[in-house]
Amino acid sequence: MSIFPKISLKPDVNEYLRRVFLNKEVLATVGHQEAEGRFQKLLTCLSHPPSYTCVRASTHLTSLEEIRHKLAKELRKQQMGSSSAEEDALQILPHPQIPDVLLLPVDGPRPVKQLSSEVVVGAQCGNAVLRGAHVFAPGILASPKYMKAGDAVSVFSDLEGKCTRGATSFQGMKVFVGNGVAEMDRFSLFCTDEPAKGIGVRMVEPLYQSPSFDGVLPNLLFLQNLPSVVVGHVLGPCPGEHILDMCAAPGGKTCHIAALMGDQGEVVALDRIKNKIDRIRQNAKMLHLCSIKAFCFNSTQAVSSDAAQGNEGPPFPPESFDRVLLDAPCSGLGQRPNMANNWSLKEICSYQPLQRKLFHAAVRLLKRGGVLVYSTCTVTLAENEEQVAWALDAFPCLTLQPQEPHIGAQGMQGAGLTPEQLRLLQRFSPELSWSQTQTTAPLPCRASGDTIGFFIAKFLKN
Ligand code: SAM
Repeated sequence: MSIFPKISLKPDVNEYLRRVFLNKEVLATVGHQEAEGRFQKLLTCLSHPPSYTCVRASTHLTSLEEIRHKLAKELRKQQMGSSSAEEDALQILPHPQIPDVLLLPVDGPRPVKQLSSEVVVGAQCGNAVLRGAHVFAPGILASPKYMKAGDAVSVFSDLEGKCTRGATSFQGMKVFVGNGVAEMDRFSLFCTDEPAKGIGVRMVEPLYQSPSFDGVLPNLLFLQNLPSVVVGHVLGPCPGEHILDMCAAPGGKTCHIAALMGDQGEVVALDRIKNKIDRIRQNAKMLHLCSIKAFCFNSTQAVSSDAAQGNEGPPFPPESFDRVLLDAPCSGLGQRPNMANNWSLKEICSYQPLQRKLFHAAVRLLKRGGVLVYSTCTVTLAENEEQVAWALDAFPCLTLQPQEPHIGAQGMQGAGLTPEQLRLLQRFSPELSWSQTQTTAPLPCRASGDTIGFFIAKFLKN
């Protein structure tokens, strides 16, 4: 735990978040010391990966037990050459409350000795390495001048985005993420006309050890954070329904919804970014799901009273859908691991108005008696509980609903919601459960708390 610093934020962003976590209502309930402690814990756990990897299993194709068995076989193949102790340690566990999830413990931080040759990668690539990925060539920013394929190298993550592409060394803020073996020489990485593709450094001693899922049972497994899987269950789709996923790419939740419906009915997936639509289609194809129709569209404009009933694509007439998921674009401050966030306060605060515009469209598109789920992967009040308070005020037709499963904490105080309303919200707050002593608890219990920061609200339109 002491290897990594806390997440590094711009000073005004840090102060903004601190005021969120130490707001008057929280202080009145838990006191200053506890509130400050929780905030500091949050900053620490955001820079660390969760202590397990979560994969969603395609239980619409075969049973969880069968998938678990096949995965164990694949991972044993991956581990050939490892010590028998490492093989014995292989654990793949179901979650007691979520029927389509498998959990695999992550081992780390492990004591790994740094080497003299350094490769520097971008922060996003560094975060992926901490969650079990190898280093892909486009993520590499700097390498030793004479690096050859086969060289052993230490990999560092550039925290502030300051390393120049093609550099031979870098003295800025960086964090060690493990050792690997170069699969390309420096020339192939930086000196050819075509940008390099494929694995650039194969990680052999990562700081956090977890299996690589690259190409492992691609139609039976989908890497997904636990709270994202919870969203699909909370939405509660049923076979034959007409469902809208308003901000869908790359389609993790869209595919889950279609799977929960047994691929019967229709899931309309919208996203504003054109090349992300292909990712939704690829994922749907890989998971053998035919009920998904993906369109590139700005969802704030997805509702029109002039649109014809039965339109296959957007815009749609009001009250077209049985259920709507608004997994909103957000400041993403719950993502883990994230060792540095270089966003300005203005950027962090820019999402609330867009989320409200999307929410307006969501409510209009939903049938009476239909269910709307709103979710984000951030920890601010402005994008979570404050949005719920605003929505309940702006749309008297909406009421909050209990969530099933509810494995996260309740909503955070500070937005004027009643205790009863807060209990209906689901906030995944890693700072409330994450501690070193927790490592003694059984994995499935630990997993429900040691997640990315996430928020879910479920509404019924009366
Ligand atoms: N639901 C996705 C999943 O589980 O894979 C993740 C969605 S991500 C949180 C938010 C998405 O919203 C991004 O892909 C972004 O391109 C999209 N987006 C942002 N503004 C949008 C808009 N006005 N209309 C539609 N999509 C939008």
